[in-house]
Order: sequence, then C-alpha cells, then structure tokens
Amino acid sequence: MFVPLVSNSHPDAHRYKDQFWLQLKRKVKPAVIAGPCSVESEQQILQIAHEVKHAGATMLRGGAFKPRTSPYDFCGLGEDGFKFLKRASEETGLPVVSEVMSAAQVELALPYVDVLQIGTRNMHNYELLKEVGKTDKVVLLKRGMSATVGELLQAAEYILLEGNDRVVLCERGIRTYETGTRNTLDLSCVPALQSKCDFPIIVDPSHGTGRSELIRSMSRASIACGADGIMLETHCDPKNSVSDAAQAISPAQLRQIILDINAIAETLAARDTDDEKNLVEAR
Ligand code: PEP
Ligand code: MN
Repeated sequence: MFVPLVSNSHPDAHRYKDQFWLQLKRKVKPAVIAGPCSVESEQQILQIAHEVKHAGATMLRGGAFKPRTSPYDFCGLGEDGFKFLKRASEETGLPVVSEVMSAAQVELALPYVDVLQIGTRNMHNYELLKEVGKTDKVVLLKRGMSATVGELLQAAEYILLEGNDRVVLCERGIRTYETGTRNTLDLSCVPALQSKCDFPIIVDPSHGTGRSELIRSMSRASIACGADGIMLETHCDPKNSVSDAAQAISPAQLRQIILDINAIAETLAARDTDDEKNLVEAR
C-alpha cells in the first residue's frame, strides 16, 4: 500500500528531525512567533524584536517580500528587510521567520532567515515548494485560503520529496461566505492534521480573523484545541502598522496572550498526565 512521506504511519514518520524543528513541537509551553506584518525599517524591527522577546515570544516574524492583494500597496523592503531581521535576531537571540515567494527569494533569504515561510497564496506553487525542499531550513507552510486539509498535506509532500522533512504547518483561516471576519479560522483542522501527520501545527489568528479584538480569544482556543504554537502580528504602534493594521496587537497585548496560553497549556498537560495515570490504573 502506498504511504505518503507526510503520513504518521510512514515507517520514517517519527524519525528524529532536529533540535530546532523540535522546539516548535509543544512540550508544555507553546511556541510563539511574533513580530510585524512587514519589516518597515531597521529601527522598527529592532525595537519590536526586543519588545516581543520581553513579552515571551520564542521567534520573530516580519515580511521582507510582501504578497499584497493590490500591487500599489507596500510590497516590502526586499533584501534589506532580511538584513534588518538578521540584525534583530543577533541582538535578541530570537530565530527569524520570513516569507519567500520565488526561487530567487529563497536563495536571497538563506543567509539571513532561520525559517522560510510559504504564504497562503503560494501553497499551490509546486516549483517553490520543491525549491524550499532542497534547502536545510525549517519551512512554515501556510494553508492555502481555499485548500483542504488533504491538499495542505500534499503540498507538504512536495517539500519532503526533495529531502527536507523539517516542515511546520500553519492554519491561517480559509475563505467562506462569512464577511464579519477576514477569514474563517478553521481550528478543527488542528486535530484533523494531528491525526494524519507528525508536524508541529501553528495557528495564525491574526490573518485568521483580521481583527485585533478577536485575537486573544482565538489564541486561547488555538492552544486549547492542541496547536503547538501561534503566530501573532505584533507592532509597537499597531494603528500605524504599514500593512494589516486592523489585526496588529501591541507588545502588552502579546504579553497577556502568552500568559493565557501558557496557563491553558499547563492545565491541559496536567490533565493529560492524569488521564494517562487513570488509564493505566484502570487496566
Ligand atoms: C503573512 O504571514 O505575512 C501573510 C502574508 O500571511 P498569509 O500568507 O497567511 O496571508
Ligand atoms: Mn500580514
């Protein structure tokens, strides 16, 4: 029977990947990737990097090449953005996540970025998936806005087939008929994915809701349903964020959310341990 490489029933599925990839798997504390939608300037990314670190984030995000719906919107600082991210990473010790949209950008990103992000618009860009599959970087693969769970897993298969099995999956909301939120955050995909694969699952409530006032609740829910971590767009001056201002939260809000999700994760971990003990005793 054919078993895809992404499947948790593949004989190699549980092989040791590496320490950095494993950091994204939830032990007790969830991973928190935080930072602005776009890198706007060197000063901006350095300041927010220190702030998110202080709030308890474990990784820094920031777009250098931005996929914008309108070509007239700010499309990012390009390679300079990667350089500023690297500087912020060196100052804070936080690993850096940034999006790439083409093979040329993958090559540019390699010296600067720890995690290559494939955005929702490129989940079906198979040549790009093969390109990141040839690198030794962790790949954060976002779910296409109209992709099924099965299609997301098949996109991940493209990356694994090239030899890179350090994949992290990200639910960022899907398109539905709902207009009250930017997207519909499909949290049921978290346990659905976990039943099929062994990759860390990150939820992005920022793009999933598009509304900063909904992000705290949906972050709590993400961890409660079993996600390994969350990604949150965070800005020192949220209202004046150059992109995605409506969904940007402040470092103080990030801090509150991290306290919430750590408490939820600890409670659930303790309950899971109790369940296991009770099961053993009942046998
Ligand atoms: C992002 O995370 O910067 C982004 C553009 O997200 P998405 O691809 O999910 O829209
Ligand atoms: Mn954004």
